[in-house]
Amino acid sequence: MKKNALDLSFDELKSHIADIGEKSFRAGQIFRALHKGLDFSEMTDISKTLREKLGEEFNAQSVKIIKSLKSADGTEKFLFSLSDGNVVEGVLMLYKYGYTLCVSTQVGCRMNCAFCASGLNGLIRNLTCGEILGEVIAANRYLGGDLADKRKIINIVLMGSGEPLDNYDETLKFLQLVSCQEGINISQRNISLSTCGLVPRMYDLADSGVFVNLTVSLHSPFDEERKRIMPIANSYKISEILDACTYYFEKTGRRYIFEYVLIKGENDTEKHAAELIKLLKGRPCHVNLIRLNEVKERTLKGGTEKDAYRFLGLLTTGGLSATLRRKMGEDIDGACGQLRQRYIEEMTE
Ligand code: SAH
Repeated sequence: MKKNALDLSFDELKSHIADIGEKSFRAGQIFRALHKGLDFSEMTDISKTLREKLGEEFNAQSVKIIKSLKSADGTEKFLFSLSDGNVVEGVLMLYKYGYTLCVSTQVGCRMNCAFCASGLNGLIRNLTCGEILGEVIAANRYLGGDLADKRKIINIVLMGSGEPLDNYDETLKFLQLVSCQEGINISQRNISLSTCGLVPRMYDLADSGVFVNLTVSLHSPFDEERKRIMPIANSYKISEILDACTYYFEKTGRRYIFEYVLIKGENDTEKHAAELIKLLKGRPCHVNLIRLNEVKERTLKGGTEKDAYRFLGLLTTGGLSATLRRKMGEDIDGACGQLRQRYIEEMTE
């Protein structure tokens, strides 16, 4: 199978170009064209011979949008195909300042959280850095965006299918690629990585030299209950996660965020709010509440909007910084893994 040209860093591409006897400035041209979303055949400022040579060895754009669904609220969901026939999804959200793209880092997921559709069939495989980048590039081109100042996507969240820190090396290289000056150059300040709490990798990320926003999926302030919602809680205690967050803050100066999906009767009682306040008050953190998008294969239920505001009120009155995230894209299977699940069902019916 051909290699994915987007897996190469600028330095790796430069040395490849030198190896095949081409002038070094070609590397810059090709790197920029790749990150704009061009195929080799569209790179008309390089010779046909070189284009063909590269095309024999590499795939330029191996990630393609094969389906897009627009929600009534403006959210758009993409299904991306990969070169081996697998599919992953991404969600585009329009905020005041521009588009945010939510990307997937794995096909499927090993974590099997009780509310999430991504883990329904386990982990199929990791994405490579170039494939994660390919989602961004395909969406940016779809929107008519170009590189740097002309990009359309200005924020990225790693909250699609998969656990980014369970695919640590490729995720890290993706973060470097997507924020590199020669490419689409999205500021690391505008990138958020969400993890279910793989504690050792949280320390690695803090030491990695990339400065992205850290988001941790908490979903319960009680270890025993968290184990029922998130199997990974059998490996790491909440106190260990909080220590890793403190380390992340010390290293990066960045406030961290906790995601908390509200599940009716499970984690949205006064007792839960009180414990969250006890755990988090005084920390440089923010709590993002999300109303559950019910997944038909899972039994958990979401509460009403009123329930969510009541819980939010308890947290803010208790001194926490917290918000309720707008529920977006519900009509288009907006939650992680839902669209892919539907697609797989349709294909196998
Ligand atoms: N594995 C990482 C990244 C996946 S994003 C992590 O666990 O953080 C996970 C986030 O997606 C959750 O914190 C939650 O905010 C959201 N999510 C997943 N399934 C959902 C659902 N059914 N309803 C609402 N939010 C969901």
